[in-house]
Amino acid sequence: MEKRFVYADNAATTAVSKEVFEAMKPWLTEKWGNPSSLHALGREAAVALENARARIAACLGADPKEIYFTSCGSESDNWAIKGAAYAGRQKGRTHIITSAIEHHAVLHTCAALEKEGFTVTYVGVDAEGFVSIDEVKAAISDKTAVVAIMLANNEIGTVEPIAEIAEVAHAHGALMFTDAVQAFGSLDVKVKELGVDLLSLSGHKIHAPKGIGLLYVKKGVRIANLIDGGGQERGKRGGTENMPYIVGLATAVENAYANLPAMRRVAELRDDLRDKILAEIPHSTLNGTRDDSRRLPGNLNIGFEYIEGESMLLLLDAEGICASTGSACSSASLDPSHVLLAIGVPHERAHGSLRLSISSETTKEDADYILEKLPPIIKRLRDMSPLYEEALKAHKV
Ligand SMILES: *Cc1c(COP(=O)(O)O)cnc(C)c1O
Repeated sequence: MEKRFVYADNAATTAVSKEVFEAMKPWLTEKWGNPSSLHALGREAAVALENARARIAACLGADPKEIYFTSCGSESDNWAIKGAAYAGRQKGRTHIITSAIEHHAVLHTCAALEKEGFTVTYVGVDAEGFVSIDEVKAAISDKTAVVAIMLANNEIGTVEPIAEIAEVAHAHGALMFTDAVQAFGSLDVKVKELGVDLLSLSGHKIHAPKGIGLLYVKKGVRIANLIDGGGQERGKRGGTENMPYIVGLATAVENAYANLPAMRRVAELRDDLRDKILAEIPHSTLNGTRDDSRRLPGNLNIGFEYIEGESMLLLLDAEGICASTGSACSSASLDPSHVLLAIGVPHERAHGSLRLSISSETTKEDADYILEKLPPIIKRLRDMSPLYEEALKAHKV
């Protein structure tokens, strides 16, 4: 096949869609008012702000007053957990439950709260990446302020049983928070069906720009304020509103829901890619579940033995394919992906893992191109690998 550009890293970020860009443009040019101003320019912005909030709330099945705009998914995760923890502490609740496979925006927030005297239980997951509800039940008490479990994992795509976990949390008077950043755009996220008190989203995973997110806070739920300022976002998160991005986010959210039926085709393409890679490349293993109903449609994560993930990515990149790995070399730490380690993937295979995250824009030709380029890259790397040579000698392969 002729060289092409294949973007299979949608879990990392997505392109801003043309519709989102067009929706944003007037708010970057002629409509530059501050929604807090009383004059016409400001009033126009205030109307658009509340319109964006209402459009997003309608998609989520929420009330507009329950939507708070933030600057990103990480900010929303921080606010949800710290806000719930500080509010809980006033009632003697100093315990937090989260899972071993959360995004670092959640894990590092919990670690920061541990330094402040909170205790945190990190519940484990099974070999497919599903959070153990029994472990949540065993850990929870009337000291628990918040249970923070993601709706879907960004590395292996597992969809967690949030509604069931929320029931456990509420039976003990704790708040339920879910990081829905990765699930959004793939699943029909409805806050009432999930039974959550707090839920985070990020724009750049759903074709809005980087630097916009939101936190859903259920009516009646009290969490500590995030930024003290001029009273924006109902006094909880100060700062003049980022109008272009907020308007863009509303368009992106509506498009994400409208695009949900296309996800079936994405899952089919992913399944085909999965089956062909596993069949064609020896010593390859699927990371995460095979159960399509419990895995994000665009997510594929495969471990290749005797491979170093970063070299694989560079060779794929040279062919025009953008993907991602659980190898440590692509991050600041020496350990490979905490998610892959949590599901029991050995270090060696975690280092040689490949995450392909495809979208409804990925074509059959793109998938064929990956299937053409990946096997020779794996072979080439193994031919150079002393580990593979040793294994060959020992007749292990
Ligand atoms: C991307 C991501 C985040 C962080 O969102 P940002 O907007 O990049 O800060 C948080 N949680 C999950 C699951 C993500 O995939």
